[in-house]
Amino acid sequence: MGLKRHNIGCFDPIAPPFLSLLSPLLSPHLPILREVFGYDAFRGPQQAIIDHVAAGGDALVLMPTGGGKSLCYQIPAIARQRAGQGITVVVSPLIALMHDQVGALHEAGVSAAFLNSTQSSEEASDTERRLMRGEITLLYAAPERVTNGRFLAQLDSLQERGMLSLFAIDEAHCVSQWGHDFRPEYRGLTVLHERYPGVPRVALTATADALTRADIVERLQLESAQLFISSFDRPNIRYTIVEKKDASTQLLRFIEREHPEEAGVVYCQSRKRVEEIAVMLVEHGIHALPYHAGLDAGMRQRHQNEFLREEGVVMVATIAFGMGIDKPDVRFVAHLDMPKNIEGYYQETGRGGRDGLATDAWMAYGLQDVVNQRRMIDESPAGEEFKQVMRGKLDALLALAEATDCRRVRLLNYFGESYKSPTDEANGIYMPFCGNCDNCLNPPEVWDGTDAARKLLSTVYRCHQTSGHSFGAGHTMDIVRGKKTDKVVQRGHESISTFGLGADYSEQQLRAVMRQLIAIGALHVHTEDGFSTLHLTDASRAVLKGEVPVQLRESTQIQASPRGDKRSRNRNTPGAAAANLGQDAMVRYINLKAWRAEVAKEHNLPAYVIFHDATLAAIAEHAPHNLGDLQGISGLGVKKLEAYGEQVLRVCNGAM
Ligand code: ADP
Ligand code: ZN
Repeated sequence: MGLKRHNIGCFDPIAPPFLSLLSPLLSPHLPILREVFGYDAFRGPQQAIIDHVAAGGDALVLMPTGGGKSLCYQIPAIARQRAGQGITVVVSPLIALMHDQVGALHEAGVSAAFLNSTQSSEEASDTERRLMRGEITLLYAAPERVTNGRFLAQLDSLQERGMLSLFAIDEAHCVSQWGHDFRPEYRGLTVLHERYPGVPRVALTATADALTRADIVERLQLESAQLFISSFDRPNIRYTIVEKKDASTQLLRFIEREHPEEAGVVYCQSRKRVEEIAVMLVEHGIHALPYHAGLDAGMRQRHQNEFLREEGVVMVATIAFGMGIDKPDVRFVAHLDMPKNIEGYYQETGRGGRDGLATDAWMAYGLQDVVNQRRMIDESPAGEEFKQVMRGKLDALLALAEATDCRRVRLLNYFGESYKSPTDEANGIYMPFCGNCDNCLNPPEVWDGTDAARKLLSTVYRCHQTSGHSFGAGHTMDIVRGKKTDKVVQRGHESISTFGLGADYSEQQLRAVMRQLIAIGALHVHTEDGFSTLHLTDASRAVLKGEVPVQLRESTQIQASPRGDKRSRNRNTPGAAAANLGQDAMVRYINLKAWRAEVAKEHNLPAYVIFHDATLAAIAEHAPHNLGDLQGISGLGVKKLEAYGEQVLRVCNGAM
C-alpha cells in the first residue's frame, strides 16, 4: 500500500515513566503541553505524532479511545498558529459535542470556535469574521460544512494569505463503509487535499481493523502519510464476563456494589429493553436515563447533556449512544446483551475510563444471547457470504465469553497485537496474564464437559429419530436430566436411551455445554415462527465420537469484583479519583467538587472541562496555601491557574 510505517511499534498509551523522562530532551512542544494543558509528559506516541504534524507532515493516527488523540492535532495547531502559519480546521461529525470541545479549549486559553447548524446566523457570521481575521487557532466544523462552496471560498482566501495551517480529520473511519459509522459526506473531503495540496492533514481514528484502515488511506488519499499505531490495550479497564441468570438483578447488584453514585453506560439490544432497564434502575434510586434512536432528538440531546454535565448518571442505551462521548470519568460500561462482534464490544467498553483510572467493563451473557445473535444473522436478508463473515465474528466473541484464560490477551490478539504483560521486560518470559480481568484475578475452575456434550448431542439425534422433528434446548435438557415433564411423557421421550443419563448435571452446567456446542458450531439453532430448535451439524460427529474435547468454565455465581480492597462499598464512595485521600483531603475534595459544579454551571460546560476529578484530587491532597503550591499539578495549565487559582485556594482553606 506504500505506507511508511513509523517505527514506534506498539506503545502503551499510558506512557511508562522512562518514556516520560525522555520527553524534555526531545520535543520542542513539551512547553505547550505544560503551559496550556498542564500535563507533565506526552503519552505513548503523542510526541512523535505532534512533532511530525507540527513540522508539516501528513499523518494517520490510530489510537484507542481515551489514548489522547485530541492533543495530537491541538498542539500542532497551537504551535503552527504561534509560528504565524494560521488556522487549523478540525473536521468532526459530532455536532452535538462541538460546543463542549470548543469550551474546553477556551478554558485552557486557546482561541477556538465551531461552525454548525445549531448556531444562529449571527453567531455563524461572527465566527466567520473572526476566522477571516485570523483570530482563531482551531475551527471545528462538520464535513458537509467544510466541503460546501461558500466555506471553501473562505478557505481559499485564507490560503492566499498564507493563513491556512492544518486539516485535522477526526473520526476518520467515517469515510469507510467497513467502519461501523459510515458517513458519505466524508468522501467529499478529498477536496481538501486536491484544492490545498500544500496544507498538511492529520486523520485520526480509534477503529483498529486493517480493512477500515486501508480504506481510510485510499479514500482520503493518505498514501504518503506517516502511519502511527498505538497499542490498543486499555490497562485500566477490567474485563469481566458473567453468566446471565437474572440480568436486571445482576446489573443492579453490580452497580450498587461496585459503582454506587458513579457514571456508567449500560448497553442493551433493543429500545424496549433500554426503557425497562432504565425504569428498573430509577426505581432503585439510581439516576438512570434512557437513550435510543426512537426518542426524539430533543430528548436525546437533553439526556446526553445530563449524562455529560451531572455526576453519577447511568445512561441506559442502545448502540445509538456513545461515539465521541469524551466524558473522562465513565466508571463502568455494562453489556446486558451480547454485542454482535468484538469490534463493537471493544468500541463500547472503550468509552469507559478515559481518565486512566480503574474502570469496569462488565458483560452478562447467556444461552439466549447466542441463540438470538445466530438467529439475527440467519434471518437477515444479507447474502450467504456476508452471513458467513458475521458468523465468524460472532464465534470470536463467543470464544471470548467462554474463555477460561486472559480476556485481554484474547482481545488484543483479535486486533493482531500480542499482549506484553508488565513483567515481560524484566524477566524476559512471556506471560499471557494481564492481572486485570476476571479470569486472571479469579482463575475459573475448568471441567470436562465432553461426556455431557455427547449426551446432549445424542439426545438431539434420538429425539429427531423418535418424533420425526426437532426440539428446543429446554426439552432436550429435561430428557438428559431425566425430568418427566408433561411434554416428555406425551412425546414418549422417557424411552429415549439417553433419558436420565445426565441426572448428575445441573441445568446450569448443561446450559453451559449447550452454549459451547453452539459456539463451536457443533449444534445449530434454527428459528421459525418464534420457536428455536436444535439440529446436529457436520461438526457434531467429532464431538459425539469424543474426538473434540469440550472444556468448560465452572459456573460461578456473579463474583464480587476483587477490587473491593481499593474501593469502599459504602454509598458515599467518592469515586476512583479520590480513593486514596485521607480525611482532611477528602473534605477539601468534596468542597472542590461543589465549587467546580457551580463554575461549570455558570460556564454552561460539563464539570470535567473545568477540572478532571484527578486534578481536584491532586489539589486536595497537596493542601495548597499559595499559588506556588498549585504549580505542576497535572491538568492545571497557566490559564486555569490564572482564572481559578485564587478561588481554589479559598476553597481549600475553608473560606468558601
Ligand atoms: P481520545 O480522543 O483519543 O479518545 P482524548 O484526546 O479525549 O482521547 O484524551 C483522553 C484523556 O486523556 C483526556 O481527558 C485528556 O485530557 C487526557 N490526556 C491526553 N493526553 C494526556 C497527557 N499527555 N497527559 C495527561 N493526560 C492526557
Ligand atoms: Zn487477564
